[in-house]
Amino acid sequence: MQISTEYPEQVNLPFNFGLIRDNFSFRTPLDEDTGETGTWVIIQGGGVLAHHAGGGMQLPEGELPSGLTPKNTPLCIGSWQGKPVRVISILQNTVLPSAFSCEQFNAVVQNLDEDILTLAGLGKQILHWERQSRHCSRCGGTTSWIRGSWGRACLSCRAEHFPHIHPCAIVLVRRGDEILLARKREWAPGRYGLVAGFLDFGESLEECAVREVKEEAGIDIRNVRYVASQNWPFPAQLMAGFVADYSGGEIAIDPGELEDARWFNTSSLPDLPAKRSIARWIIDTFAT
Ligand SMILES: [Zn+2]
Repeated sequence: MQISTEYPEQVNLPFNFGLIRDNFSFRTPLDEDTGETGTWVIIQGGGVLAHHAGGGMQLPEGELPSGLTPKNTPLCIGSWQGKPVRVISILQNTVLPSAFSCEQFNAVVQNLDEDILTLAGLGKQILHWERQSRHCSRCGGTTSWIRGSWGRACLSCRAEHFPHIHPCAIVLVRRGDEILLARKREWAPGRYGLVAGFLDFGESLEECAVREVKEEAGIDIRNVRYVASQNWPFPAQLMAGFVADYSGGEIAIDPGELEDARWFNTSSLPDLPAKRSIARWIIDTFAT
């Protein structure tokens, strides 16, 4: 068997590091913070603070805008265009300074440019990890940063913990001119997307794709092919995208997971997920 060494083309979807690689470099928490002012990622609930500047929406720069009370010690995650980026979260009910708005990550119309969205998502994901990892999952002891990494070490039992990012498979199923789309109850009315789910114990991603489509929609698939992935910081998933062919079965949804699933002809698709998602990228790339 000949093994190809070519990888799928890099897909610079929002939230993938490649999209900000030229302007961002990581640091780790115990690196010295020079105190130089820079950019703020200020998370409020499901959004990030931004203001109009230079023809677009920008994150705050310089001193922390007055009137905001951080819920955490500012966490410097790296440098953005050569200056430090610090992340904080603020209370949901904080009244914002008049120049600022809280831009929702899941906004129907996204005002933030993709690189700003990606930087903010990265800050959100790291902040989530910082919050989740303050205590050891083995003994409950307090943890502290491991020098040179984003890992945490337990001060009591010395167990080490590293960032948790959860793999999911997301699958486009094709049957002739049709594709299988599904919707969850909590989605916007009329919107359909792809079947997706978390990796289970002992599974490969391809096995996960096969199982999720069978469990949620009752459909058997074959020719499961990996196409691209997207980091999804809500709060910490890695979406691995697949395209597969229908091989049998009738649609039978799991009502605990889905509200509906059906075959759509690719010439008349319903309302689809936002452009920022890998679901939409897969549909646009492989179903038109
Ligand atoms: Zn411990």
